[in-house]
Amino acid sequence: MKPGDFVLVDQFLDFTKNRQHTFYEGGERGVVHVDVTDPYCAALRAVLARAAVESSLSVHRSGVYVCTEGPRFETPAEIRAFTMLGGDLVGMTNVPEVVLAREAEMCYATISMVTNFAAGISPTPLTHAEVLETMEANTDNLKQLVMKAIDLMDTKQSCLCGSALKEFGGFKL
Ligand SMILES: [Zn+2]
Repeated sequence: MKPGDFVLVDQFLDFTKNRQHTFYEGGERGVVHVDVTDPYCAALRAVLARAAVESSLSVHRSGVYVCTEGPRFETPAEIRAFTMLGGDLVGMTNVPEVVLAREAEMCYATISMVTNFAAGISPTPLTHAEVLETMEANTDNLKQLVMKAIDLMDTKQSCLCGSALKEFGGFKL
């Protein structure tokens, strides 16, 4: 994966530290152990993949997203470790939102945009400016992809996201 590439992430590795990870803190409704075998909605990911084809944009159809706490970038040692664990790309935003979306019984998918090579892979020191530059250069493609996906979306749900908390009586705060 290289800067500018889009990735339809299908799995994650969670390396966050200080975030709220659930709507259920063990109060009146107890705790909830939600299934994240397929953490990202497969139906929505399929729509995004189709939208990419119809927009003539190349996307990686799967990828393991490593979510770090940040805000600092990773060390080269961490990147080597994440690679050994099966990670494909690193970011700071996907977790816990993907899990909270599942708890809320929402369909959720993400289009990850690779903005830079990671530490130890990049030949130069990492800068936030290069991240912004790649995002800027790719904004039109991203907009096109999202708009196409909205066109292709089916209002009938063919996935199980909407009943993720069925055995707990559905999503309620
Ligand atoms: Zn879904």
